Amino acid sequence: MKRRDFLKLLGAGLVIPSLEFEAEAKNAPDLSHHEARYYEKLPDRRVRCLLCPRLCIVGDKERGYCGVRENQGGKYVSLVYGRPVTLAIDPIEKKPLFHFLPGRKAFSIATAGCNVNCKFCQNWEISQVRPEQVRFYKIPPGQTAQLAYKYAAPIIAYTYSEPIIFVEYMLDTASFATRLGIRNVIITGAHVRPKPWKDILAAMDGVKIDLKAFTEEFYRKIVRGNLKPVLDAIVMAAESGKWLEIVYLVIPGLNDNMKDIKRMSRWMVKNIGPDVPVHFSRFFPMYLLKNLPSTPVRTLERAREVAMGEGIKFVYVGNVPGHPAETTYCPKCKRALIKRVGYEIKEFNIKHGKCKFCGEKIPGVWS
Ligand code: SF4
Repeated sequence: MKRRDFLKLLGAGLVIPSLEFEAEAKNAPDLSHHEARYYEKLPDRRVRCLLCPRLCIVGDKERGYCGVRENQGGKYVSLVYGRPVTLAIDPIEKKPLFHFLPGRKAFSIATAGCNVNCKFCQNWEISQVRPEQVRFYKIPPGQTAQLAYKYAAPIIAYTYSEPIIFVEYMLDTASFATRLGIRNVIITGAHVRPKPWKDILAAMDGVKIDLKAFTEEFYRKIVRGNLKPVLDAIVMAAESGKWLEIVYLVIPGLNDNMKDIKRMSRWMVKNIGPDVPVHFSRFFPMYLLKNLPSTPVRTLERAREVAMGEGIKFVYVGNVPGHPAETTYCPKCKRALIKRVGYEIKEFNIKHGKCKFCGEKIPGVWS
């Protein structure tokens, strides 16, 4: 498959015509400059942001590292509340969440901004810009949830950029969505502090965390963040009882060392258990890493073998449409439970949360 065709398939979600949103948002008030939830005031009208491990200290009229939080005379505000830049309907498999309502649609939203700077970012056009540099819609949280309802999406996904930085908008939208019977999932790098993370977990039904490597060095050089807070957030997510899946994008020469993948797999089994699905995804050259080759499929297969060898039960190969490791297999009888090709489900053999063939309980949210 050519890269162009693959990228087409990657974008298989439905982007709703912007006119629809403009009509919906015609009379929406401008809600940006919404007071931030997690900060403290300091002398001289400075503030300290308490949302992510950067703990930015921000002077009056200045912004934090993520570019979407501004100190306005000693009051810290979010500039992206009610201002999504992307709205689309995707298959939940695109996130990817494989054990969470398979085959269902996820109304997907993002604002501008991010609190890290991954050199391999797929969505850098929206994540690495300031809110005023990209076109946005004005849609308050209640209306956002209503739109998901209108498009018959049973899930809202907070995704594409880094939802942590639009936490206030996300939490308020999730609250409206829950009242409409819609589930909420976050797709995140989880570079976050424990208190806001606890609040976010309480509002979510599913969580997908991108674990970008298993060394502090990679996080420091390639992500511009830290590994430790991400590992802590993964453990908190597992302990919260909310559905959790992990994605590891395998980048040639940077994080494809099998010893590290083995250490990571061991850490997972010990700290979050063998039932949390892990996806080893294929890297394609983009953003600041256009000089690297795509990940060889064999490398992804080796990573999968290593992780399964350490006891992880559900390990997938991602971004290789048609690969047999897109399928969910029963860990007991080894029969195919959910056969997938790309984002499409071809066969579904789970009944009442159990393998249809041998009755083994299969972890996930199935209804
Ligand atoms: S969320 Fe933004 S402003 Fe707050 S600490 Fe992180 S990077 Fe800084």
